Amino acid sequence: MSMLNVENLSVHYGIIQAVKDVSFEVNEGEVVSLIGANGAGKTSILRTISGLVRPSSGKIEFLGSEIQKIASRKIVASGLSQVPEGRHVFSGLTVLENLEMGAFLNNNRDENKANLKRVFERFPRLEERKNQDAATLSGGEQQMLAMGRALMSQPKLLLLDEPSMGLAPIFIQEIFDIIQDIQKQGTTVLLIEQNAQKALSIANRGYVLETGKVVLSGTGEELLASDEVRKAYLGG
Ligand code: ATP
Repeated sequence: MSMLNVENLSVHYGIIQAVKDVSFEVNEGEVVSLIGANGAGKTSILRTISGLVRPSSGKIEFLGSEIQKIASRKIVASGLSQVPEGRHVFSGLTVLENLEMGAFLNNNRDENKANLKRVFERFPRLEERKNQDAATLSGGEQQMLAMGRALMSQPKLLLLDEPSMGLAPIFIQEIFDIIQDIQKQGTTVLLIEQNAQKALSIANRGYVLETGKVVLSGTGEELLASDEVRKAYLGG
């Protein structure tokens, strides 16, 4: 079943067209990856799905309802959560306080407690550091915190914007393992990455973007094996 359906999406910033007539879908239970170089329009697509940027044209359907004109907080409440590029953890707040911010739409204390327990089970390192200022975490730990914060709202669809950016190789592997784990536990994932090799190796399907357009799509395996992707993104 299609969980997210993006149809003929275009995004403009003034006269600059960042996204050009892009269509793709994410089915329930999948990890779908959008890959592309700097400036290809990946972040603009994610921010438009989250309601932070308005499209100039096109349609976005989430769980059967059109959301392209809906307020961002309502979109989150309907089951979609985004981990932004660069993580954006709140410095000056502890790890625990950051996680609590992820649950701000839910007044049910028991549910929030259960969600926190699940996040700590998945990220034991966050529990060990729960009283530490978020700004003092390493880059990889901040990425875990940003993912944990997004999971506090129990999203059906998790949007990840370049989770491996700027991380040491050992953390990169860990982050991709965690994404697979999140999928196994029933959350659907839309993953945006410049690390095409890693992203496509865990993706069920993927789309390749160039200057705002989808130029190729297929299963993760097909894209990894395709000459175009190998030449442009995998150095081969
Ligand atoms: P990156 O990997 O570098 O983040 P990206 O694929 O996510 O790239 P976007 O950030 O979506 O790409 O940018 C797509 C295009 O839109 C770029 O040409 C960028 O300069 C432009 N753009 C993005 N945000 C804005 C903005 N707020 N105002 C003007 N132009 C913007």
